Amino acid sequence: MVASTLVAMLCAHLLCFSVMFLLISRRLPGNRMGMDFFAAGNLLLALAYILQLVEGGPAWSVMSVVNHTLTLAAPIAYWLGAMRFFGRQVRLWRSLIIFSVAYGIAQCLVQWSAGPTARYAMLAAMASVLFFVMTITVIYGVRTFAKDLYGEMFFFALLIGGICILNALKFLKIVDGGLDALHMDSRFQMIFYIYMSTLATIVPPSIVWLVLRRLTDSLRNMAARDPMTDLLNRRGLLDALTQSFNSRNAGPARLLLLDVDHFKRINDTYGHQAGDEVICQVADILRSTVRRDDLTGRIGGEEFVAVFLEADGDRVIHLAERLRASVESQAIKVAGSGNVLRCTVTIGISPPFHGAHDLEDALRQADAALYRGKAAGRNRIESAEVFNSVSVEDPKAAIV
Ligand code: GH3
Ligand code: MG
Ligand code: MG
Repeated sequence: MVASTLVAMLCAHLLCFSVMFLLISRRLPGNRMGMDFFAAGNLLLALAYILQLVEGGPAWSVMSVVNHTLTLAAPIAYWLGAMRFFGRQVRLWRSLIIFSVAYGIAQCLVQWSAGPTARYAMLAAMASVLFFVMTITVIYGVRTFAKDLYGEMFFFALLIGGICILNALKFLKIVDGGLDALHMDSRFQMIFYIYMSTLATIVPPSIVWLVLRRLTDSLRNMAARDPMTDLLNRRGLLDALTQSFNSRNAGPARLLLLDVDHFKRINDTYGHQAGDEVICQVADILRSTVRRDDLTGRIGGEEFVAVFLEADGDRVIHLAERLRASVESQAIKVAGSGNVLRCTVTIGISPPFHGAHDLEDALRQADAALYRGKAAGRNRIESAEVFNSVSVEDPKAAIV
């Protein structure tokens, strides 16, 4: 009786969250972050438990075969949902139908060749293996595709690992004690249902949290980045710089301001789209020239910024020279026309500054240096600072 009440409550939980996942998925674009698959998983598991309540105990019937199939189809739906959440394109119903047919046939074969105990043992063994693989995948995810969700993935690995162990124990109990081990009111089954009810309470809100986190992260990212180049915008740059200065012993930072020369001419000669192509190529060169810890941004039409944290003046000049030379040597294909164009950039370097609040001032000084570079003939580097020792390979790079 207690077990039946527990299972009934578990079903109610699963069905409620199935509806909730479905409603959330309707509000999400694209692959819906897998929420529709999670809704299906909850529904399948709820149906499996409803069939178990109706059946009452182990039996050989169509209902039982369907029940076993649903019990395993549910975690497969969750698995596919998780793959969707991490951006993989997978199909739900086709995978589930193939699995259901295969597992239905396997059940009939095992029932006829080895008897009912073997069929129930097979379910427990399959569930245990499935959850084991899921646990390993989640742990692997912590180090690879889900690094940003370290805590969450570790938590999920613990929960899924628990189901894996319980199913392995269930398998051993069936092998040892036959179908009596599956009596709904047995101590082991009670522990099993309590654990599953606990999971049904904890996991769905955790999944909603994951979705919320992804959504707020992408909103923050959208607000901080330039959509064309994916570099930081002015606001993103300021936020990232504030974070960097707060999280380390603030050594001085320097920035360089880079402007494409005669960009209007490129737009006028080759068209706006070619101009956009140039902007993206310069952004790529900028990204590949700086270190991971340095910040890169686009703060105007064809104006870019790189902020170097704890870099000395000589290094910044060397990087600026590499940037200038890379852009100059890059042949940019104009899409659709077969034309190849080349462009140059002028770079202004700021003096060192010590906090995010000095960003605007550093930009102003770099801009003044840049302006001098434009006036002096373009395709060159100008620094707002005077250095005692400067070694710049290219004669075009001039230090004022
Ligand atoms: P200078 O060498 O002095 O920098 O000359 P310039 O022609 O590059 O002059 P300026 O920097 O003022 O030109 C900026 C131009 O960039 C003006 C504007 O039409 C163009 N622009 C701004 N945003 C975009 C954009 O997103 N795409 C394209 N294709 N052009 C843009
Ligand atoms: Mg320009
Ligand atoms: Mg400009």
